[in-house]
Amino acid sequence: MDLYEHQGKELFARHGIPVGEGRLATSADEARQAANELGGPVVVKAQVLTGGRGKAGGVRVAATPDEAAEAADAILGLDIRGHVVGRLWIERAAPIAREYYLSVTFDRGAKKPLLMLTREGGVEIEEVAARDPGALARVHVDPLAGYQAYQGRRLVHDAGIDDPGERRQLVALVERLYACFAAEEAMLCEINPLVVTADRELLALDAKVTVDDSALFRHPEVAAMRDTSAADPLEALAREKGVTYVRLDGSVGILANGAGLAMATVDLVGVAGGRPANFCDLGGGGRAEGVVAALEVIGADPGVRSIFFNIFGGLTRGDEVARGILAALERLEIAVPIVVRLDGTNAVEGRAILAGAGLGQLHVEATMLEAARRAVELAA
Ligand code: GDP
Ligand code: MN
Repeated sequence: MDLYEHQGKELFARHGIPVGEGRLATSADEARQAANELGGPVVVKAQVLTGGRGKAGGVRVAATPDEAAEAADAILGLDIRGHVVGRLWIERAAPIAREYYLSVTFDRGAKKPLLMLTREGGVEIEEVAARDPGALARVHVDPLAGYQAYQGRRLVHDAGIDDPGERRQLVALVERLYACFAAEEAMLCEINPLVVTADRELLALDAKVTVDDSALFRHPEVAAMRDTSAADPLEALAREKGVTYVRLDGSVGILANGAGLAMATVDLVGVAGGRPANFCDLGGGGRAEGVVAALEVIGADPGVRSIFFNIFGGLTRGDEVARGILAALERLEIAVPIVVRLDGTNAVEGRAILAGAGLGQLHVEATMLEAARRAVELAA
């Protein structure tokens, strides 16, 4: 789950990471009021779950409360990469001397958390990594041994920070950010930019935090931060129905049993020259209820032009899946063609049930590749 900047900063503050004082606002009046309370110049910032707000005009400095209201008017309703701004964070403006970048994330390859620091902050980190990889200091932390103080010193040294005051503050901050990452069971804690102010103080000007959904039950306060209004309505429907579903942007809806087969199906649609509309794992069992729920979610995506049903029966029985598909078609309006590949346990019985239904909408194929080709062709 991704957190909004202001929520990330709330977590940072709990772990002793310096953040600016601010207020939430959802209207120009509230923004004016917030600026009044904070006093002096403020920054008005769009709260959306995407980066690049600055470039998109979602971050503005305002010298007076009236200017803050004007900025709020300009930013509210703005569409930033498909996210419409409904919430603002008004923060006391900081005089910036330098912009750094600091993060903790998971390096899946190394199976360890990774600390990254660079003096070239304020831009996308991928840009820095591509343009000047040497400028990006990287240190892995052993998750069992935990964070060691020397790792922070090494990181700060490797990033080329030579001012002693900055070094001292940074080393302390790296340790706190790691503590935040570990305690909150985050997948990412990123500060970009981490600024050095004109008074030579460090300040987290931005916060990008992703927490592990699977650990949320241990963190009710963080779980309560979920903004259900910002979620993709289809993904929300899927969560409600207990369907494992990730929306993609193609036209072939995919339904398979087991995450591995679902991934293979996504790849196969690509091999056949098509683009998958989603990843959907029916899980084990494949009983009628599950099939109905999954088809309901996939069928609700207006981008779906055909559906590729890929089932390998182990514990899942082909006849049961076939009956599930027919039950789903009785209950739901699905306008697009459905290509079915059934193999494994009771596949012959399953295919016979589908053939016996005599539905023109159903296309039964013998192999995965043929089914993928047919689904792509029907989606064209
Ligand atoms: P992002 O573009 O979504 O990553 O949003 P950020 O929170 O990183 O803000 C973008 C840029 O706005 C920063 O890199 C800063 O240059 C600028 N900015 C943000 N907050 C302040 C502030 O308090 N004072 C000043 N002067 N600039 C700020
Ligand atoms: Mn940023």
